[in-house]
Amino acid sequence: MSKTYYTTIGLEVHAELHTNRKMFCGCKNDPDQEQPNTNVCPVCMAHPGTLPVPNKQAIEHVIRVGLALGGAIADFSEFDRKNYFYPDIPKGYQISQYKYPIVTGGEVAGVAITRVHLEEDTANSKHDRGAFSLVDFNRAGVPLMELVTEPVIHSAKQAGDFGRELQLLFRYLGVSEANMEKGQMRVELNISVSDDPEKFGTKVEVKNINSFRAVERAAECEIARMTALLEDGKGDEIVQETRGWDENKQATFSQRKKENSQDYRYFPDPDIPKMRLHEAFNLDALRDGLPELPTEKRVRYVDNFGIKSEDIEVYIADMTLATWFEGVAGALTDKDQIKIASNFIVSDILGFLKKDATLQLPDTTSFSTVVKMYTENKLSSRAVKDLLLIMMSQSIDPETYAQEHGMIQQNDEGPVKEMLAKLIEAHPSVVADYKSGKENALMFFVGQVMKESKGSANPAMVKKLLLEMLG
Ligand code: ADP
Ligand code: ZN
Ligand code: MG
Repeated sequence: MSKTYYTTIGLEVHAELHTNRKMFCGCKNDPDQEQPNTNVCPVCMAHPGTLPVPNKQAIEHVIRVGLALGGAIADFSEFDRKNYFYPDIPKGYQISQYKYPIVTGGEVAGVAITRVHLEEDTANSKHDRGAFSLVDFNRAGVPLMELVTEPVIHSAKQAGDFGRELQLLFRYLGVSEANMEKGQMRVELNISVSDDPEKFGTKVEVKNINSFRAVERAAECEIARMTALLEDGKGDEIVQETRGWDENKQATFSQRKKENSQDYRYFPDPDIPKMRLHEAFNLDALRDGLPELPTEKRVRYVDNFGIKSEDIEVYIADMTLATWFEGVAGALTDKDQIKIASNFIVSDILGFLKKDATLQLPDTTSFSTVVKMYTENKLSSRAVKDLLLIMMSQSIDPETYAQEHGMIQQNDEGPVKEMLAKLIEAHPSVVADYKSGKENALMFFVGQVMKESKGSANPAMVKKLLLEMLG
């Protein structure tokens, strides 16, 4: 009998904040600057005798995150020095926060948040230049927010879902682009497996993860590795350590034994004044100024539009598309039309955009006209798709265009009956197939009529007439 194993996960998430200036100096905070060592000054290059001045916009961003996730905003807060030696941090310490983070508590996607604090990003070291290592200071001193969760996540999927929801929240708040591939959002995975529901197992921390998919894969790998060791009675081989994620091998590997927080000799930075956040910021105004958040938007979409939850998630993830969709919905008359519109958007329009990046969303008025024509049986779904593709590369009046190009659906029975009569006469063997039980034979006739009518016949009507005529 194999035992039950319990997985516990806590995440540490870093996000580079979107601000005009760096955290403690006047340098531009520009993640797109590719020329090394351009946005630099004596402060962020750690020249002796320079003094840091905190960036109020960065602190405000963290406060807004705290308000959005329902955490408590500290009144007293301060910056600390986290001491360690590495070429990407030539001061010999990173300015961070230890005892008095800006935010404590709160919750995202059902996961309890421990804290959110502010620190400075380090420089970027490049080790791929042969005998040399180079250091680029453009990133040094960029405001970096760190969010830590409680150890309350219990599966790989839940970890990935939490990360995606957090990314959405940061984007809605406009505090970070939070692009994982660009390193603007970095997730460290703390994970343990135990055979005792009352006790946590030994945790390992996995770094260098650069997608949400990789968060899930790394968690799955560690669950499998640690479970196997426990199964074999080798639980003591699980050691507290930092592991890396190898994207090519899709595997984790041991990097180093984890340092304790004592090793960093944290102490308050004597160069930076203490902060009284409740005095320095108008928290009520900041709370009132929060935008509609993803959770709120989901509720509104369910209530107002009655569309599928998969569709809703597509809009939740893409603010531009959501705004455009709301424009479309506003031009339609009822939920049925909105549902139809959403189906065309998610299965056709987005498909076209994916295949051809030069295409654009059609304007909301034209698109809503097309949806209305479809619900009035004036356009077949085939014709809608054709029209949409045209509307996405040129500006047309869909009604005029459809008329001029014979795309208006014919609901007149007369001409279709005539076509069918001729077809039936010309293809006795297909009729015989049908009579001998091959239902598919009908589709041959429907297809021929659609072809002859250049797609303008109403296929449901064609089928109905055909059944009548074949008796
Ligand atoms: P450390 O001092 O090693 O950095 P912390 O207590 O600060 O550890 O926790 C860091 C992260 O690890 C947090 O997200 C926390 O929820 C998580 N964590 C702590 N203990 C465990 C455990 N046994 N298993 C999984 N995650 C854990
Ligand atoms: Zn600077
Ligand atoms: Mg820690």
